[in-house]
Amino acid sequence: MAALPVEEKVRLLTGADSWRTYGAAALGLRPMIMSDGPAGVRGVTKDDRNPSASIPCPSALGATWDSELVRELAAALGAEARGKGIDIVLAPTINLMRTPLGGRGFECFSEDPVLSARLAVSYVRGLQSAGVGAAVKHYVGNDSETQRWTYDAQIAERVLREVYLVPFEACVREARAAMIMAAYNAVNGSRMTEHARLLQDVLKGEWGFTGAVVSDWDAARSTVPAAEAGLDLAMPGPDGPWGDALVQAVRDGAVAEEVIDDKVLRLLRVARQVGALSAPDGSGPHGSGPDGSSADGSRPDGSAPADPVLAHPRLLRRAAAASFVLLRNEQAAVPIDPAAAGHVALIGPNATHPVIQGGGSAEVSPAGISTPADALREALAGQAAVTVTPGCQTWETVPQPPSRMVRDPATGEPGVRLEFRSADGALLSDEHRNSTVFAWWGDGLPAGIGWGEGGTISVLASYLPDTSGPHVVGAAGVGRLTVTVDGRVAADGETPVPEDPVETMTRPGEVTGVVQLTQGQPAQVRLDYLPSAGAEGPLAVRLGIVAFPDEEAMLDDAVLAAAAADVAVVVVGSTEGMESEGFDRETLRLPGRQDELVERVCAANARTVVVVNSGMPVLMPWASRVAAVLYAWLPGQAMGEALADVLLGRVEPGGRLPVTMPVHEADCPVLYAVPQHGRLSYDEGLLVGYRGYDAAGTTPLFPFGHGLGYTSWSYESLSADCAGLAAGADVSLEVTVRNTGLRPGREVVQAYVAGPDQGHDQRHGRPVRVLGAFGSASAAPGESVRLTLTLPARVFASYDEQAGSWVQPSGQFIIGVGRSSRDLRLSTTVTSG
Ligand code: BGC
Repeated sequence: MAALPVEEKVRLLTGADSWRTYGAAALGLRPMIMSDGPAGVRGVTKDDRNPSASIPCPSALGATWDSELVRELAAALGAEARGKGIDIVLAPTINLMRTPLGGRGFECFSEDPVLSARLAVSYVRGLQSAGVGAAVKHYVGNDSETQRWTYDAQIAERVLREVYLVPFEACVREARAAMIMAAYNAVNGSRMTEHARLLQDVLKGEWGFTGAVVSDWDAARSTVPAAEAGLDLAMPGPDGPWGDALVQAVRDGAVAEEVIDDKVLRLLRVARQVGALSAPDGSGPHGSGPDGSSADGSRPDGSAPADPVLAHPRLLRRAAAASFVLLRNEQAAVPIDPAAAGHVALIGPNATHPVIQGGGSAEVSPAGISTPADALREALAGQAAVTVTPGCQTWETVPQPPSRMVRDPATGEPGVRLEFRSADGALLSDEHRNSTVFAWWGDGLPAGIGWGEGGTISVLASYLPDTSGPHVVGAAGVGRLTVTVDGRVAADGETPVPEDPVETMTRPGEVTGVVQLTQGQPAQVRLDYLPSAGAEGPLAVRLGIVAFPDEEAMLDDAVLAAAAADVAVVVVGSTEGMESEGFDRETLRLPGRQDELVERVCAANARTVVVVNSGMPVLMPWASRVAAVLYAWLPGQAMGEALADVLLGRVEPGGRLPVTMPVHEADCPVLYAVPQHGRLSYDEGLLVGYRGYDAAGTTPLFPFGHGLGYTSWSYESLSADCAGLAAGADVSLEVTVRNTGLRPGREVVQAYVAGPDQGHDQRHGRPVRVLGAFGSASAAPGESVRLTLTLPARVFASYDEQAGSWVQPSGQFIIGVGRSSRDLRLSTTVTSG
């Protein structure tokens, strides 16, 4: 490396394009390819012809409280990444759910740093076991989306150390994450890509991080400050603030060449870890991954790469069921005995249109989706009658039509035709697609199509209405959109350029119109889209068509169906695109008339089971009136099958809440995370999540850690060995629990630490208790299990800002062990010092 001219070294430090790094033959380095995560591995394109496994969203993984399951899923994603030729997966997201409105909360594991850290370590280990690198993100303080590009998070040092840095520190020290992604936002006055103290001193110094720091996409915004602060790789490329400007800075002496060398060395370490480095003379298996695949994912024998996650659908189904949290279950409303079910009324907008994943960079194109309606019908076929009624409509963007209702006019196959035309109207290329929602990030578009390049994209479909009457057509995208139906303009307009570039995909403007269609009579639909000249970010366009809804009739139908059934299952939740990167939610209320729907259904049928399909908390004003509530998160492509497994009792709903569910919005310790004059103050300090509820004495609707499962447990004994605590050793707990119910089950045993008031720092309110450790016990009815949990010394310690170090306070701590943060069954006291 020392022999490499500075230009060539600097070249390696900016991406070659949206997802690739440069290679350097003289170093034996091939380009490395990155893909987003964490809920699937999209690859360098999002394309229905190259599908990806959609696993439960990370908040669902948080709900499993199961490190081993998370490791297994991440290993499968790692193998899928390898199969797609990906070297580095931009995952996991380990920011915290500071506010339940956080747009990207679904992408985080928990509101608690210890639960997040444990699962993050497992995720990184699993991913990296497959020979790919994890880029852990977003370091640090990117816990909400509003003004994420610019806000300055004001976070006290102690709060950073004891809360927000905890999962990052664990991923570096314990899991040896290959990369850390520096966030868009600033912390305490300095941009994270320029934060010398947090990047250089803390991450690379104190924690000994030897991998590379990559910028979030376009987050590197300076030459010398970012280079000096410890950023190693600016993504994407090939443009950016480094390049020639950084070469010049080295020549001018503004940046020492050793600083550049250190960055290159760090990239080489990552390359070695992912198999992108071979002998510089060109000998050896240059550029092949551990499985022998080359950079583009193809195998030496030319065979298509196997897709390990898709090959194991049972894993996705098992994981989803393990994440479902049974919040309430009066008179054993669930499980439903298929033999005695009689008539099940399946109700709700998400029964037929579930939201399986959140929006933004984490989105993938799954090969298929198992819906609750299809899966329950299949599971009860021949045993019980299942009626399906949507009850209300909730969409904000006109939904894409089911593939059975659209045909490619060129071939007659199910799907649509996509045409790319140059600015002068010449056809550049066309292709058949199975979706009406498209997104491109740098790859996959013909030359001449892009922001301001003048070329157009057209979507052509023959639409077969299944009802007669008014239909809504909609086209979404940033730029000029025109929809014609049977040659007549139905919708036309220009949409504005959004503030955050990711919103070109997650929340583009839409033009809509209403047309009259006749059942069974195909309509020729055409969308012409001219991307805007002023936009940047992923280029996306979608076509939607749906019959005009009559909501009163839908609600009435649902009530009639519920009244006639033995059990009503109502699947409510988020709408597509509502939970997304790029913006925060504005309310915790369920969209549309879903609350009214639940109230009316449970008034009509006492055995009403509500399934909530949301990645983050929602208000459940009807919770005390319905028989059962099952939280299903954004569960990935296996949603329906997993739901049928759980509702029919084949599998226990294994989850426990990784986030507190509030009664009212006002009860949340942090609700709106809206920066004031560019500053976002973390005034709640240590009191985030359940710690805030405890400190304020507020009763949540369902507390952190809560979840019922299908059996019952007694907590029989607890003992603690704290002999070495004063000297900084971990505390070991022995807990015995017994399955006192009638079914086998798994219990998540949670240990909380309540400490003496460490009076040396009065500025920060102390939490009443914090999660210290957890583990799980699986047992048959009547069986007892003895569990050992380790409370790390760190959970007893506090960070002394003055001294700049951790202190082990002396005094008595109460260890509470139980089923949730508010249901502690046994306690013991340990003394330090
Ligand atoms: C997101 C990152 C993501 C990157 C690349 C950014 O907007 O914040 O999480 O990895 O885009 O898609």
